[in-house]
Amino acid sequence: MAIMAGKILISLSRRLGNQGTDFPGRVARKIYPGILKELAANIEEEIFIVTGTNGKTTTSNMIAAILKEKGYSLVHNSAGANMLTGVTTAFIQASDIWGRNSFDYALLEVDEAYVPLLIKETRPRVVIITNFFRDQLDRYGELDHTINLIKDGVRNTEIELVLNGDDPLITHFQHDTGLHCWYYGFENTIYDSLESEESREGRYCVFCGEELEYSRYHYAQLGQFNCPRCRNQNPRLNFTGRGLKMTPFIQMKVNDLAISSPYQGFYNAYNILAAVSAARLVGIEDHIIQKAIAGYQPRAGRMENFIINGKRAVLILVKNPTGLNQTLSTLLYDQQSKNLFMALNDNAADGRDISWIWDADVEVLAQEKARIMQVVCSGLRSGDMAVRIKYSGIDSQLISIKSSLEEGIRATTAGPGEVSYILSTYTALFDCQKILSKMQQDEVGRSSVVRQMQA
Ligand SMILES: [Zn+2]
Repeated sequence: MAIMAGKILISLSRRLGNQGTDFPGRVARKIYPGILKELAANIEEEIFIVTGTNGKTTTSNMIAAILKEKGYSLVHNSAGANMLTGVTTAFIQASDIWGRNSFDYALLEVDEAYVPLLIKETRPRVVIITNFFRDQLDRYGELDHTINLIKDGVRNTEIELVLNGDDPLITHFQHDTGLHCWYYGFENTIYDSLESEESREGRYCVFCGEELEYSRYHYAQLGQFNCPRCRNQNPRLNFTGRGLKMTPFIQMKVNDLAISSPYQGFYNAYNILAAVSAARLVGIEDHIIQKAIAGYQPRAGRMENFIINGKRAVLILVKNPTGLNQTLSTLLYDQQSKNLFMALNDNAADGRDISWIWDADVEVLAQEKARIMQVVCSGLRSGDMAVRIKYSGIDSQLISIKSSLEEGIRATTAGPGEVSYILSTYTALFDCQKILSKMQQDEVGRSSVVRQMQA
């Protein structure tokens, strides 16, 4: 009955065009609280959990793409519904009405706060942690609390951890849990800096509290660190990213395996590295990994590309200072001249407190090499965004405010830059995507009419 109710609600909410898929799972769990535990028992190989502050969705989608390329069947909460209820919905959707379908793998993107509960109900074999950054503090309290929550969740299990070895906030998991850990990270890249300009989380050693020394930063607190007092330093890497190039699309080697991807930005290079590491752990062949990553196209807000007015427009979700910093540095790697659009909302899902825009290093926009031709600020807090941009030191004549998303996006893509970057917080993202898709379709429609007329 729980599966039936869930399936009906899934089809209803689809028909209503809802993006969120928590509700069917919530109702099903009310009817039968043991539903997830039972459906999770249908996974024949392994259950993977992907968690961490940034990069969960992209990393888990990439692993899913690799497993599918290999021909495995899987349960995957690809809609970004990453709480217990959303995961339940994904299992109901994949299951037959009797709950008897079996699958090779489950790949679950999970919000940090729900990791302990999900581990109890699904008994995963591998937990992948991408990184820890400050994200909507008002929702979960301190970052330390989140980290401890996950640590307690994996303690006393047989789980293997796949960890970002460049993040000093993650490296103590092995020490504190005794679990087997696999590490991924980057060796030196041409994008590293010797000084950190950003606000960073992992400034102090997690063991002794001493300030960490860094020989280089990849970005934020991710880099090559050591503690001058105790022996805390980067662990030995099992999966090493080498020769990273972003021109603007990512090329690198993971150990000896050459990888290229249509994604941009250092944080996506980390996502790819995490995905390739996980795939290698389960023994997927190199050519399958290469093909899946090369063919994996960005989704909504994760560097999704559109062609409008014959030029590229890139849609990017930003939700915290680190994410915004990464997006801005991606802009710097791209040498084309740019139109920039920034939609800032302050609905509950965005985080009510928008002060985080002041923590991000927006000043880089004023650098000459950023080649910003215009900035359009939009969304419910467009004025605040415009003030923030103005204080970056950019020529204020380049900044305008259009509170309507559509007007703003039209003004942006009509701008003088060779490429448009469309940045948006969560609750404006899907509207921005709809507007961009429609503009792209209209353009395809127009050009096919022209082609027909020419014919
Ligand atoms: Zn120390």
